[in-house]
Amino acid sequence: MLMYPEKMIWDVGGVTPILGERLIDQLKEQAQTFDPTIVLGQKVVDVTRDVFAHFLLTTADGTQHYSRTVILAVGYGALSLQKLEIEGADRYEINNLHYTVQEVDVFRDKNIVISGGGNSAVDWANTFIPIAKSVTVIHRRNEFGGHEMNVRKMKESSARICTPYEVVKLHGSNDVIEEITIRHLETEEEERFAVDEVIVNHGLKCDFGALKKWGIEMKDDLAVVDNRCATNIPGIYGIGNFVNYESKVRLIAGAFTDAALAVNNAKLFIEPDAPEAAYVSSHNICFKERNKQLGLDDDNYREVRG
Ligand SMILES: Cc1cc2nc3c(=O)[nH]c(=O)nc-3n(C[C@H](O)[C@H](O)[C@H](O)COP(=O)(O)OP(=O)(O)OC[C@H]3O[C@@H](n4cnc5c(N)ncnc54)[C@H](O)[C@@H]3O)c2cc1C
Repeated sequence: MLMYPEKMIWDVGGVTPILGERLIDQLKEQAQTFDPTIVLGQKVVDVTRDVFAHFLLTTADGTQHYSRTVILAVGYGALSLQKLEIEGADRYEINNLHYTVQEVDVFRDKNIVISGGGNSAVDWANTFIPIAKSVTVIHRRNEFGGHEMNVRKMKESSARICTPYEVVKLHGSNDVIEEITIRHLETEEEERFAVDEVIVNHGLKCDFGALKKWGIEMKDDLAVVDNRCATNIPGIYGIGNFVNYESKVRLIAGAFTDAALAVNNAKLFIEPDAPEAAYVSSHNICFKERNKQLGLDDDNYREVRG
């Protein structure tokens, strides 16, 4: 979600349209409910077991964390953006060559070129059409990979769509792109035109790094899990974009469902005698005091450990 802080998210149940950044803030706030230890800015590079069979997670700076279970929510791993393969293009990154959109307002009333044909390119085209001076979408294929409805919306809009084209040259001065050359992939015909901002959405390079060495069964670069999000290693669970199974929903809502399954399963791993069915959290004994503070009382609490 950090990839699209200013994207409007419409499809999380019970949450009215919300910017990605704001949803992250709300998730962080809610996560504080059980006072977890939160460690930021660290990359897990190794998972081993100590003599007590506890998992030992080691991060890149050598810090070690112990746990009885591990839930891997690593998405597609450490992601890096697929850059434009044009020599010297990187010098424009400090000005008007963008691989992510951090601030929508930067693009207001501008002539924007978006290179790419997947969900991100289509989403940004639809976001900017109402506020930009012009939007041109350059894509190597004639078909777009984005969600059908969004592709239709983009095609019916004022956006100029150039397929099958690719960006071949950036022309600028003082590290600012002023013009762009695109080439038709079949006729090789070239066109040069003025531009204010260039957004490149050519996808992401996934790097699972050491994760692949931990022995987790993977298929097509995704972890294989059962219907309770357990990997092949007892005590290690996988959720969200990192995993695949039949009927997997690749949305935030799908990741939430995976998380609930994995947490309940992890609890059973730690306490095999615990009830199998998960109870609603509001009846967890730990909420008794908090509910009282909110003026709510109810005797229906259960003693839930862990
Ligand atoms: C452009 C775009 C728009 C989208 N729009 C929507 C939308 O409108 N609605 C919707 O429901 N879904 C949307 N999605 C899909 C949604 O973002 C994903 O389903 C969701 O983010 C999956 O969550 P996740 O936690 O599995 O992975 P991620 O959100 O990718 O989080 C994985 C995290 O793990 C971290 N990580 C990776 N490796 C390590 C490591 N070794 N150590 C420590 N940390 C690590 C990564 O840095 C990252 O922060 C969109 C996706 C994209 C790309």
